[in-house]
Amino acid sequence: MRPNRFDKAKARRQNIARERIVMLLDMARSSALAGEMDLADRYAQLARKMGMRYSLRMLRGFNLVFCRRCLRYLVPGKNARFRTIGGRLSRQCLGCGAVYRMPLKDRRK
Ligand SMILES: [Zn+2]
Repeated sequence: MRPNRFDKAKARRQNIARERIVMLLDMARSSALAGEMDLADRYAQLARKMGMRYSLRMLRGFNLVFCRRCLRYLVPGKNARFRTIGGRLSRQCLGCGAVYRMPLKDRRK
């Protein structure tokens, strides 16, 4: 199907949103490394919101740095525990205790 002008506008909006999400995640990472976890959480939440608003698939790796339960930005060794157990990656949020697991083989994300 040929994209019409509405599809094109949508694609443009999504590209801008994607860029902004990348920026926000960068900012989240640098403030997390600077020890400002509140700011990092806020940036991560804004990035998530933007992703939902523009119906973007979550960016590769984004799920890894974000707790879905308490919506915090996760920093391995700081407020998150990453382990591999039996070929699976297990990730625990030390803020709320939520555990996420994903297989390391055949993963699509
Ligand atoms: Zn959590």
